[in-house]
Amino acid sequence: MALVNEHFLKLSGNYLFTDIAKKVNAFKATHRQADIISLGIGDVTQPLCPAVIEALHRATDEMATASGFHGYGPEQGYDFLREAILKNDFLPRGIHLDIDEIFINDGAKSDTGNIQELIRWDNSVGVTDPIYPVYLDSNAMIGRAGQKVDDRWSNVTYLPCNAENKFVPSLPDRRVDVIYLCYPNNPTGTVLSKEELRKWVNYALRNDTLIFYDAAYQAYIQDPEIPHSIYEIRGARKCAIEFHSFSKTAGFTGVRCGYTIVPKDLTAATLQGERIALNPLWLRRQSTKFNGTSYLSQRAAEAIYTPEGKEQVRATINYYMQNASRLVETFRRLNFEVYGGENAPYVWMRTPKGSSSWQFFEELLYGAQVVCTPGVGFGPSGEGYVRFTAFGSHERTEEALARIEKWFGK
Ligand code: PLP
Repeated sequence: MALVNEHFLKLSGNYLFTDIAKKVNAFKATHRQADIISLGIGDVTQPLCPAVIEALHRATDEMATASGFHGYGPEQGYDFLREAILKNDFLPRGIHLDIDEIFINDGAKSDTGNIQELIRWDNSVGVTDPIYPVYLDSNAMIGRAGQKVDDRWSNVTYLPCNAENKFVPSLPDRRVDVIYLCYPNNPTGTVLSKEELRKWVNYALRNDTLIFYDAAYQAYIQDPEIPHSIYEIRGARKCAIEFHSFSKTAGFTGVRCGYTIVPKDLTAATLQGERIALNPLWLRRQSTKFNGTSYLSQRAAEAIYTPEGKEQVRATINYYMQNASRLVETFRRLNFEVYGGENAPYVWMRTPKGSSSWQFFEELLYGAQVVCTPGVGFGPSGEGYVRFTAFGSHERTEEALARIEKWFGK
């Protein structure tokens, strides 16, 4: 008899967006003519830029020839992409990486979920709250998160981020072995200043804590003072792994490509106190369980670092950020309390009149046929908030705002 991994049974039955889809479908069943606008799920809507499309065509033509065909590639990614990343994402910020510290992946979701395989099952975990659900669910799957009691995992230290602390998490009041940070933040759309991030790096160095830093939205940062990478902070090479994604940077949600940085200086201890480098361990893990990101995706990603690619990608990011400004501006005019949206494609709104996240979600769906994401789906401190994304088209975002204004004015 095969015994099931019972840790899976502790997870809530559905992923957040499945619950949302169910509620939207229930609404559609009774309102067949309704034209619903989703500002909920964080998928992008604008097409890939021309430089990426041309690279995809070129790579496809190569694959049609015997000399240009590419089969299995290096598990850690092709050098042409790793070099482009090094030269464009890190060197201009004064960050010197070795090419072997860059691991190309099929998007950040896999690695943010898989990275915890590098540490023992009984490490303690801290997260800012609310947070991208993958971090905790992946820890729960192997039992590290403990038991779920009233929407909280027993072995997890939650660090609330809310309007009261201006979305700046306090350092934990106890030692944690591993901490997940995500900046710019999904879902709150807020960022950490260099000073605040430095506090985390210093905490990690003092306490021998490992930081998993998710920078999936760094391309949306507008303020030149906000760090794009944790390695902008001295000492971070000794305590942090960083995740990047081309999904939101360049519309790769369907193409699939991203990368993870595992510095060679980074170590974790055995029970006997021996320090073990994590970079070779991650390479070993990837070579065993991952067969590389497709050649086509990697050539497509390389194209975003060409002069035309950079310009085109920036234009799309600006397009989405115009939506973010319109969301913030309109909600403020309607006297909603909103956060984020300045250095991130997410706008985080406090629900009015003390309604719960799910109550407001339903009121908005039934009142304006607009879908948002209930904040509580991202963690207990998300209760009383909802998230709007800026990833729609201008037309649909404007239409949604006009409907919200009309509905709210009633
Ligand atoms: N990290 C964060 C914070 C995200 O919001 C997402 C996607 O929404 C991801 C990682 C995963 O991105 P992908 O797997 O598409 O690269």
